[in-house]
Amino acid sequence: MLISARLEESPQQEGLLTLEVTEYSYVLDKLLQLCYPMDGPDFDDLASIYSLASLAEKYEMHVVTRTLRTAFVGIVERVKENPLRAYAIACINGWEAEARIAAQHFSRNGFRSKWIYELECLSAAAYLRLNQYCRMCSRIASHAAESFSPITQNDWIWQSCSSCSGKGSLQSWGVPHTWLTDFIRRTAEALRFNPCGNTVMDHARFGEAMISAGACSHCKSRAAIDQHRFAPKLPKCVDEKLSTVCTCHILFISCD
Ligand SMILES: [Zn+2]
Repeated sequence: MLISARLEESPQQEGLLTLEVTEYSYVLDKLLQLCYPMDGPDFDDLASIYSLASLAEKYEMHVVTRTLRTAFVGIVERVKENPLRAYAIACINGWEAEARIAAQHFSRNGFRSKWIYELECLSAAAYLRLNQYCRMCSRIASHAAESFSPITQNDWIWQSCSSCSGKGSLQSWGVPHTWLTDFIRRTAEALRFNPCGNTVMDHARFGEAMISAGACSHCKSRAAIDQHRFAPKLPKCVDEKLSTVCTCHILFISCD
């Protein structure tokens, strides 16, 4: 063990073995709190996890590492701090499961990159795989909207309308053009940039669809009711499709 080997070489002071370390005391204090049967420190940012993770690795404190990994996931999901930083920290420490969670948040928040210190330590391969994952999510979320099955059911107001559905050409996914297909198309476009179920529920886009539906004498009477029945099903569908991407298609760390 690293510590015990160094202790054997260390001088004694008043009969006690001493160990000289180079870390800051406030970091060591947190580390030692995690080793004793007492309430550990509260973690509310990724920076403290990052500094302690490398220390736990250095001193081979595997129990501390497990605690940090659990706290890490809590911060990523609760605080939603910069998900790119979270992804980088997870990859640098070889935390595959945590890297997947961070990648999900990065993608669903619009996968916009800006320089952070941790990128200096992130491998190009890991960054490339993150971008591949985001592009895949983008395609799948967008396609999930365009091919959403309830659009082909017959009991929706837009399916029985001969006023607006008969005027346009078929959409790329094989249904007549209506105000609803415009809504789906705009939603699919938004999902390309923010692949996440929550992206569907955009008030401005809903409002635009209602204005368009109001122009159709047949649709306007039930447009709001049917769209509010229809739309909430789509976020669930999108999120289900996205969950299969993360677990099946990308290995963020293991392929290095
Ligand atoms: Zn209509």
